[in-house]
Amino acid sequence: MIRALTLDLDDTLWAIAPVITRAEAAQHAYLREHCPRTAERYSIEGFRVLRETVARERHDLSHDFTEQRLIALRRALEDSGDDVAHAPHAFDTFFVQRNRVDLYDDVPDALARLAARRPLAALTNGNADLGRVGLGTHFRFSLGAREHGAAKPEPSIFHAACQRLGLPPRAVMHVGDDPWTDIDGAARAGLATCWINRERLPWPEALPRPDVEAHTLAELADHLDGHLDSRACLA
Ligand SMILES: [Mg+2]
Repeated sequence: MIRALTLDLDDTLWAIAPVITRAEAAQHAYLREHCPRTAERYSIEGFRVLRETVARERHDLSHDFTEQRLIALRRALEDSGDDVAHAPHAFDTFFVQRNRVDLYDDVPDALARLAARRPLAALTNGNADLGRVGLGTHFRFSLGAREHGAAKPEPSIFHAACQRLGLPPRAVMHVGDDPWTDIDGAARAGLATCWINRERLPWPEALPRPDVEAHTLAELADHLDGHLDSRACLA
């Protein structure tokens, strides 16, 4: 019996790469306007390298992209002789764009269908804000790695979501695009799994297969409508 779904967000409901590209450009425009020395010293690519350096140095923040980005911004401003007080404002310009996403075409209708049948919860390693994205009404709650203190594939984040849903893991299906963090992680935590494979990639041979594979969220909605609460069909 699948009585609730947890859903990954980035690359499951929308493509993340174009969103980050726009958000990085907005952040850089802020720096050009308010902190030109920083903008001069750190191109968009240069800032990306700095952020990756911070990520490597701060394994303790691997679940917290927001804090990683703020640290990188403070470091870039300081290196360039600009006021570090600009860091949260530069981040805000990034974050506004980070929540302007283009949903995959099938998502609005499929999400409404899924939400009409079962509670949905968002489970993300990223820092999207579902309220700002405009999808808040479909979800009972959103649990982010930053808020939880650990990222997928850690079992604890899946278990925390199940606990908030008031359901045992076996009654919850996790839906996501990443074979390792989403599917293998959820399976190890005892949840049913659906791999959203929009790119029609081969499944990594080293991993146990997902319970369900779908190319779109609409296919998953069709699957669940056709096999309501029948665990036997999940193979
Ligand atoms: Mg994803």
